[in-house]
Amino acid sequence: MYVVLLGPPGAGKGSQAPILAERLGGVHISTGDMLRAALKNGTPFGLKAKAYMERGDLVPDDIVLGMLIERLEQADASESAVLDGFPRNLFQAEQLDRALEEAGKGVSCAVNVRVPTDILVERLAGRWTCSRCGSIYHEQFRPPKQAGVCDNCGGELRQRADDRREAVERRLEVYQQETAPLIEFYRSSQRLVDVDGDQAPERVTWELLAAMERCQPV
Ligand code: AMP
Repeated sequence: MYVVLLGPPGAGKGSQAPILAERLGGVHISTGDMLRAALKNGTPFGLKAKAYMERGDLVPDDIVLGMLIERLEQADASESAVLDGFPRNLFQAEQLDRALEEAGKGVSCAVNVRVPTDILVERLAGRWTCSRCGSIYHEQFRPPKQAGVCDNCGGELRQRADDRREAVERRLEVYQQETAPLIEFYRSSQRLVDVDGDQAPERVTWELLAAMERCQPV
């Protein structure tokens, strides 16, 4: 089963997606993580994506789509996946449907994690990410045991370049213009499920798992 996690930056998708993927028995695919890895490794895709990401703009569709479709063709994603950060606009959503349909598959549901904008800004500005394993912390809401060090792997915690205030504002604007219309896209095909993301993380997980139970396998 393929599940899309929709929701603005800071809604908690990156923290929740691995838990959902594990429960689903599938993989967590984050295009943001893939792009950051490409950037870190200095690949041509990464170098092309860098300026867009730092500004908080979307990376051009051809780069992201190529990367995503290739990832979906790998064996571990052949039956189930939780997509986090993809699709980000209508074109990507249509191309995803097309690619999966060609393989006799489809997106079972899109879960829309709703969080008020003022809370998103607060969450993103205090967010720290492990440079080694990608675990996410917050200086106020989820501090690590030792400042600057990941509880999971001991890696160094860093603030993402695009979690700076100007980039955060741009990312939220881009979300409203480009990504929010996907809510209607999935609603009109009866694939949308809404979840309140402004609750304790454990409660959000519980509601997401309950929402996934209602998704119809394609
Ligand atoms: P995220 O980690 O999902 O917040 O993504 C970080 C950044 O990577 C975004 O602000 C975009 O610049 C880029 N990005 C991630 N996913 C996509 C996508 N599906 N389409 C275009 N750009 C993306």
